[in-house]
Amino acid sequence: MIITDKFARKLRDIRISVTDRCNFRCTYCMPKEIYNSNYNFFKKSEILSFEEILRITKILASFGVKKVRLTGGEPLLRNNIHLLIKELTKITEIKDISMTTNGVLLSKKRAHLLKEAGLNRLTVSLDSLDPEKFHKISGSKYSPHDVLKGVQNAKDSGFENIKINTVVKKNINEKDILSMLDYFKDSGCIVRFIEFMDVGNVNLWEKSDVLSLNDIINIISEKYSVSPLERNYKSEVAKRWSYDGGEFGIISSISKPFCGDCSRVRLTAEGKLFTCLFASNSHDVKKLLRSSESNISISNYLMDMWSERDDRYSETRMSKNSYKPIKKAEMSYIGG
Ligand code: SAM
Ligand code: SF4
Ligand code: SF4
Repeated sequence: MIITDKFARKLRDIRISVTDRCNFRCTYCMPKEIYNSNYNFFKKSEILSFEEILRITKILASFGVKKVRLTGGEPLLRNNIHLLIKELTKITEIKDISMTTNGVLLSKKRAHLLKEAGLNRLTVSLDSLDPEKFHKISGSKYSPHDVLKGVQNAKDSGFENIKINTVVKKNINEKDILSMLDYFKDSGCIVRFIEFMDVGNVNLWEKSDVLSLNDIINIISEKYSVSPLERNYKSEVAKRWSYDGGEFGIISSISKPFCGDCSRVRLTAEGKLFTCLFASNSHDVKKLLRSSESNISISNYLMDMWSERDDRYSETRMSKNSYKPIKKAEMSYIGG
């Protein structure tokens, strides 16, 4: 059965955060000052088991969910994640399983296990090829080389068209835009620039830090001739362009929002469902999964949840011409 929300949007995708932990401390996501040794990450018993994730995914698949993205925190910190992928491939309605990762744990063995288990697509995040800048942004001990090694291991295991996510912030890494495109031009990877978003509250987002889609295109046009490409499918979040035989994308949640086609629901590691990346409220499915509720009763709850959905945060954030931050879930918690 297909369900629609208040704006006739279907439910098609689920993003599953499998852990709230990460081996990076990106300034725009998990600033070191907050995610330090005093921070209370979830205990193992608090996060959903693979069985619980599979149960909820099966129910959502019966309403039209066809795509699953595994994310986090850093999804490769979750032990045996390939076993979850293997089980997800057995849900017949699910046609596509992907993962977003920072890439440094993509060893040859791990990449091979993911491919063998049935992971279809990989997105690897990389904000700069400059080691010093990378350290500063990622707050980690790793280097861009470690990420690139992970990308190579993934390619060697048979992953194609790997996406490279680059969050761009004004006065931080706009100079890296062209170097990223130069580097990945003939690599078979597709770079996607992401406008710095006001997810959560800890990154102290300011509109003045955002490098917009137009700014990014202007920078790229200084060197390359760019032309827009058709969307691959209706709810695609990245707008696409070609450049000198290569392709890049831009995810413009701030300057050109795309709520009209948003078909995504997000499941946090501790089992809360969010119908929008910027929502303040969530739905406690762990409570349902750990109660004696039947699948039918959970299904009814989820159907009501989706049919009540009227989220369109990105289209309204600036509507009063002044930005007022509201309490929102953090990116590492809700899953990017
Ligand atoms: N740890 C993995 C990674 O970094 O790829 C997966 C989780 S991360 C939260 C998912 C994506 O969200 C990454 O590509 C990251 O760069 C992006 N992201 C995190 N915070 C962001 C923000 N404030 N604005 C835009 N993108 C953000
Ligand atoms: Fe970790 Fe990804 Fe957030 Fe960076 S963006 S801190 S790698 S979860
Ligand atoms: Fe979807 Fe919310 Fe993002 Fe709009 S703001 S595209 S509704 S997640």
